[in-house]
Amino acid sequence: MASAPASAVAASAETPALIPPGAWLGLLGGGQLGRMFAMAAQSMGYRVAVIDPGTDSPAGSVADRHLKADYLDPAALAELASLAGGVTTEFENVPARALEFLAQRCRVSPHAASVAVAQDRISEKRFLSGHGFAVAPYAVLESEADARAVDPGLLPGIVKSARLGYDGKGQVRVRTVDEVVAGFAGQGGVPCVLERFVDLACEVSVIVARDEARRSTSWPVAENRHRDGILDVSIVPARVAEGIADEARRVASEVAGHLDYRGVLCVEMFVTRDGALLVNEMAPRPHNSGHYTIDACVTSQFEQQARVLAGLPLGDTRALEPAVMVNLLGDLWFDGAGGTTRREPDWTRVLVHPQAKLHLYGKSEPRRGRKMGHVTCLAPTLPEAIAVATTIRRDLGIPADDGL
Ligand code: AMP
Repeated sequence: MASAPASAVAASAETPALIPPGAWLGLLGGGQLGRMFAMAAQSMGYRVAVIDPGTDSPAGSVADRHLKADYLDPAALAELASLAGGVTTEFENVPARALEFLAQRCRVSPHAASVAVAQDRISEKRFLSGHGFAVAPYAVLESEADARAVDPGLLPGIVKSARLGYDGKGQVRVRTVDEVVAGFAGQGGVPCVLERFVDLACEVSVIVARDEARRSTSWPVAENRHRDGILDVSIVPARVAEGIADEARRVASEVAGHLDYRGVLCVEMFVTRDGALLVNEMAPRPHNSGHYTIDACVTSQFEQQARVLAGLPLGDTRALEPAVMVNLLGDLWFDGAGGTTRREPDWTRVLVHPQAKLHLYGKSEPRRGRKMGHVTCLAPTLPEAIAVATTIRRDLGIPADDGL
């Protein structure tokens, strides 16, 4: 039986118990998404407790309490549940058992069941296609025999490991059945999907939030450009036809509805050259492509995460200005392409621009490809925001992107 915190206001069927500012909110995971959640919740007056085993913990270092423990540590989980009326998470690979344990004791959003669907590409694709959402044609590979028997119509394609893949990791491009077999073996024989390579016009994402009363709201569509499999830039509003943008938001809300989701969810989609919208994957948490909401929208994805957890009404998701978000990777801390000498980037090159908002995640160890921060450029028009972003990228030494 859930034990509501003493300070919670009584709930009705329609209105969930309110966790008022001043009370504690809990978080599993100590990365930058957790840090930005903690900062948003703290600015609303909440105190935040984080479970994260790491020492270099972006969220742990700003939290009011950092429980340095494994995510399955029963003592830490019990302490978190006794402190906080609600617990959320910032990464999809959080053990489902931890969320189930917490759900016996306090409000948990998102639910373990929604997180489990997104943890595994096979269950994700079955969920999506089972509810009629268009996805790239695919086959499930659970054995070498499955790999040998793939429909050649799925080639060229990409073999993706079903679990623990992110930022393009655990993926290999294949052109022939032999390469599918080798690609499957190269993943260690773990369950994979083979996905047909789709001719992309662009990639977009929609962040959607859904509350305990099953109301949902979404933010404007982001157009996402990747480099080496890692998100490089998000452009908002996405440069797609209005009909596609409307459909993307409708699809994201329906995905959240079918999951009976609580919290903030990101739905990533492909726009094909022939104008189709395919759901690629979903993340049961705030997402890098929604960082622009901090500076560009009435309510950020992180404030909304806190609002849903606390049982507050959803905030307005309106964008106040066009925005371009540029990721700052650890590469910027090193000289040249293969350099190993470490240096601090010259942040005055960002801060000199009055419309640029710099966010650094407080990570002490820069590594190539590691997300260290981001900058959001705001302007009255999208071309102006793109121009500021292009200048900052050039001045920091980020490789040019002709498609920006
Ligand atoms: P994912 O981890 O599934 O998001 O894949 C990483 C990136 O690889 C995507 O953002 C796309 O740029 C690219 N990609 C993945 N799947 C496909 C596909 N079926 N067709 C074309 N490009 C893809």
